[in-house]
Amino acid sequence: MSKEISQPFPTKQMDNKASFEQLTHRTKIVATVGPACDTYDKLLELVHAGVNVFRLNFSHGSHEDKAQIIQHIRNLNEAEGLNISILGDLQGPKLRVGEIENNALKVEAGDILTFTNEKCVGTMERIYVSYPNLAGDVKLGNIILIDDGKLEVKVVDIVRNGDVKVEVTLGGVLSSKKGINLPDTKISLPALTDKDIEDLAFIIDQQLDWVALSFVRNVKDIVILRSKLDDRKSKAKIIAKIEKPEAIANIRDIIVESDAIMIARGDLGVEMPVEKVPMIQKNIIRKCLHRAKPVIVATQMMESMIDRVKPNRSEITDVANAVLEGTDAVMLSGETATGQHPALVVQTMVKIIAEVEKDYRYNREEDLKPQPHSPSFLSDAICYNACKIARDVSADAVIGMTKSGLTAFILSSYRPKSPLYIFSKEQSLINQLSLSWGVKAFYYAQEESLDSIIKDQIQILKERRFLKSGDIVVNTGSTPVQLHVPTNVLKITKVE
Ligand code: PEP
Repeated sequence: MSKEISQPFPTKQMDNKASFEQLTHRTKIVATVGPACDTYDKLLELVHAGVNVFRLNFSHGSHEDKAQIIQHIRNLNEAEGLNISILGDLQGPKLRVGEIENNALKVEAGDILTFTNEKCVGTMERIYVSYPNLAGDVKLGNIILIDDGKLEVKVVDIVRNGDVKVEVTLGGVLSSKKGINLPDTKISLPALTDKDIEDLAFIIDQQLDWVALSFVRNVKDIVILRSKLDDRKSKAKIIAKIEKPEAIANIRDIIVESDAIMIARGDLGVEMPVEKVPMIQKNIIRKCLHRAKPVIVATQMMESMIDRVKPNRSEITDVANAVLEGTDAVMLSGETATGQHPALVVQTMVKIIAEVEKDYRYNREEDLKPQPHSPSFLSDAICYNACKIARDVSADAVIGMTKSGLTAFILSSYRPKSPLYIFSKEQSLINQLSLSWGVKAFYYAQEESLDSIIKDQIQILKERRFLKSGDIVVNTGSTPVQLHVPTNVLKITKVE
């Protein structure tokens, strides 16, 4: 092994680490950070339980608090030699009602309310809505849902002064700051609000790995975000949150333009008839696999564990089905952010994933044959054949090298049964790959010759106890190594 592997893999705490490093769940876990898990020790506990990506939700909390959490995650990565990724989730054009008098307004079917864009304390007379152009965008008869659809109103009059009169069709108690959804209305708000632009500047300054955009409507929203990232030379990759009917209508283009997708079932189940969500989930996962784009299934996966120690049977089946459908990652929100048992939820999720992955449909390359019209056709063909050979010889590892990430995302999309190890000299990419199904990524910067690179990679994996003598390894790589051309080599080796 050449002496100067630029960033040696830490060996300290190897024994402690070895136990969770050998956690075998290949479907990744994204955990939202909140008051229930925001200290160094609690975050570390979650990592030991099996978290791969931490999500910071910019709908809540201050930049100061987030900076502290980011520092904790960076410190634990450093101390434990890990690549836990950080995802900054922008709030996007989320609409809300304002303050409500006494924080409770009982409304009944048939009541007429007035929504206004002038700030006021909400009463039966007038209720503030954080949407300046509400009257310009809605049409008579449009439905407006409040508080995740617990209350429902219908537009009955659009008044000249910018007020909108609505009739309550589903009554209940309205409290302050509840979210509103307009499934029938084309909303004219920009993709990034002023708050998002401030939060994005923070995300870029802090060099977070992933940035998620909420309420994506079309591909332009992604293009706008991408140009803002490019302007600041940010390496953050983009996750499009799919939670609006318009995004479903434009899903193909959104998947192509984004780096990853989140099926945000919370708002999606409000904006669309909720019974449509399961098939939408299945279809989006399938499309993402075809494009080799990581996909996350989010929201209410283990909801009952917010205050209980065991999940419902239906939640177990929900996680299991998402895994079987081929999602890259499953996400926890309130369960880890504010719940009572964050580590236990993650451990329970790992158990479900591990059980399902015993009987998983690995090696999906026949579904995803390289397409001759694809710009990456030739390297796709190497990756496809690497996974095929790995299956034929029951290889103990598929090893890929990548600078752009493409080889890693493509190898992962075939869902090889053989463990998948990726080497890269791009630290941000190594972290980003924590989201990608089955990928264990390592820093490696040598560029001597492909032979010495492959030898080093095998040696590193032996030292980390992922490989042993006699194992069979399938490598992909590219020559000439210094030119970083797309993957063009496939090699099979028996470990000495
Ligand atoms: C969702 O709506 O499912 C979701 C993940 O979005 P958020 O938690 O940001 O509201």
